Amino acid sequence: MFIFTVYRIETCKTSIVADRIKWADSNICFSWAWAAEPKWRTASDLSKLIEKLTVYTPSSKNRDSWVWKFKSTNHYSSNSLANLLFELDTVNAPALEPTVLNTMNPQKIGIYMWRVKKYKVSVRSELDACGIDIHSTRCPVCNEDIETLQHILLTCTTAKDIWSRICKWWNLDVLNISNLTYLAKPHHPWFTTASRSSLWQAIVWASSYFI
Ligand SMILES: [Zn+2]
Repeated sequence: MFIFTVYRIETCKTSIVADRIKWADSNICFSWAWAAEPKWRTASDLSKLIEKLTVYTPSSKNRDSWVWKFKSTNHYSSNSLANLLFELDTVNAPALEPTVLNTMNPQKIGIYMWRVKKYKVSVRSELDACGIDIHSTRCPVCNEDIETLQHILLTCTTAKDIWSRICKWWNLDVLNISNLTYLAKPHHPWFTTASRSSLWQAIVWASSYFI
């Protein structure tokens, strides 16, 4: 996956491996043509790519070609990608709930929560890590901390105030919230039925979306 960040700064998107890399007497020489200097995550990804390439021995028998190694035919299909992502989800995060299945919420909220769980929300700390120039990484709401996902949804003063009001509305003790999964599953006798738990979950996720 790291190759995508490197591809983004390539000037000629149709270039092939032979345009950028030469092997001479078992030595590898790179001839990069970047649209922008690789930095932050891109620089780190480029190092990983170079690490892999330096131990790779090319074959002179075949021409360059694209191969999708996750399917026996080696041909890419969106269906095989969907299956791969589903398998990765199952292997890496078996405890994740099927967020999009809470039918009380519009689908956009389910998709947003899926992104939250994957840490794929464009908060300032993530943009900065991707090498995007932003004038500040601090939270624009309270200016007291770095704007991370954890901060905007849980520890920012505004978020805390919202969770506190929702808990009061539901006659719950104000929870010591450490993560959203905990917030969505409070240990309280009121949550004895699936429908009540689903309702609470829908409220928590809709609130997270609007925060
Ligand atoms: Zn804040």
